[in-house]
Amino acid sequence: MIRVGRCHYTSLLNLSGGSMSSAREKNNADKRELYQSRRKSGICVGCGEKPATASEATGRKVLKLCEDCRRKSLDSQIRNRVELKKEVMSHYGKDGNMLCNWEGCNIEDPDMLTIDHIDNSGSAERKKDKSHAGTTFYAILKRTGYPEGFQTLCHNHQWKKEMVRRRA
Ligand SMILES: [Zn+2]
Ligand SMILES: [Zn+2]
Repeated sequence: MIRVGRCHYTSLLNLSGGSMSSAREKNNADKRELYQSRRKSGICVGCGEKPATASEATGRKVLKLCEDCRRKSLDSQIRNRVELKKEVMSHYGKDGNMLCNWEGCNIEDPDMLTIDHIDNSGSAERKKDKSHAGTTFYAILKRTGYPEGFQTLCHNHQWKKEMVRRRA
């Protein structure tokens, strides 16, 4: 579906595909095969040793990982998400630090920081396109070499900026 008048940053999404080298394709094919054979025999696709088990928390019927590997993968997912956010917030932060860019603001808690379009038209734009926040968006920013036009702001100052814009 093509939306007319969509934010031009959506085009960043298209850069995220990229073409794979054939060596990488081969590697991926091998991995897929290994994955499938483990899935079929009901052993963990992670370690290939222990039996895959259902998660007690989610009760999911699809068994892929053993208890240990699931925990590890969850831990590393969370760690990776946090690391990615810190990296992006630092890149766009004040003087390359993980800091809100607003003058005099010292907010450095990544939970309170967010990426702001420097010249966007505000929250209406953001609501239209959810990809402007969250892990997927941060990953795109990183993968596309940190394009210009963004800055780190704390949630309060993003709101403040919006208020100032509306009054203008
Ligand atoms: Zn395992
Ligand atoms: Zn701030």
